[in-house]
Amino acid sequence: MDCLFCKIINKEVPSDIVYEDDEVLAFKDIHPAAPVHVLVIPKKHISALTELQKEDEALIGKIYTCINEVAKKVGVFESGYRVIVNCGKDGCQEVKHLHFHLLGGKKLGEKIVE
Ligand code: 5GP
Ligand code: ZN
Repeated sequence: MDCLFCKIINKEVPSDIVYEDDEVLAFKDIHPAAPVHVLVIPKKHISALTELQKEDEALIGKIYTCINEVAKKVGVFESGYRVIVNCGKDGCQEVKHLHFHLLGGKKLGEKIVE
């Protein structure tokens, strides 16, 4: 499958990994939009939020606890952070493998849409 994030999972494409277990990978975004910008992804290829299945519910719950672990690791758990999932054309999703943007390290803008 020609999926960039699957290649990152398989270590065919290098990345700066922050957290990894058997189901979840977190790595630094190559073009950070904030001082802290980590992408947290399921190792299972789910192309978008719209493709979620009932069987994925536990995995998605787990991703949020992993996000908290990552937030602690990168030092934003106390200061706060924002989690964003882009989906579809209007959501401007570029990489078609479900990913959660963890953003922080500064006071973020109050608005999340322009
Ligand atoms: P999207 O717009 O799909 O929600 O976000 C995709 C994100 O993936 C972008 O923030 C982009 O900077 C990041 N990205 C794209 N290619 C790579 C890559 O090869 N490595 C890493 N670490 N991040 C990438
Ligand atoms: Zn994939």
